[in-house]
Amino acid sequence: MDALRTRDGQTIPYEHKRGRCHRDENKQPQAWESDRLQILAYAYLLESAFGITIKEGRIRYHADNVLVHVPVDDARRASVREAIQQARTLRQSTHRPPVIDNERLCARCSLAPVCLPEEARLAHDKEWQPIRLFPEDDERQVISCPDNRLR
Ligand code: SF4
Repeated sequence: MDALRTRDGQTIPYEHKRGRCHRDENKQPQAWESDRLQILAYAYLLESAFGITIKEGRIRYHADNVLVHVPVDDARRASVREAIQQARTLRQSTHRPPVIDNERLCARCSLAPVCLPEEARLAHDKEWQPIRLFPEDDERQVISCPDNRLR
């Protein structure tokens, strides 16, 4: 986690995100679902490791300078356990999970080189117009330094 702070006697895990927060139908700032699960998992981990109770986690979205409070309760702890169980099930599976519907998220996803979402979409839909997620030519080169001065 990015930070662990004590406020009014409570231990609070913090997560910092460069992007913007999610907005609900009333335009109120909310955590994205994946971010919410992440901070809840941190809280659950802290509780398990240190035998303490975490009442909330906080996520700061720097692009719009918003701090979102994420309460921790039994229902949310159960959602972490369910996610862990789902991850274990997926790990046993020989089938990949489906690619996300919102293809715009894939352009900035670090998993794209192994997920190959555009290839998956094209395999599913022959009319799909794939976008290029990787450079056409791999121009990477190894820079060597004979006397190792740059190491
Ligand atoms: S590249 Fe794969 S893992 Fe990443 S957002 Fe797209 S579908 Fe999800």
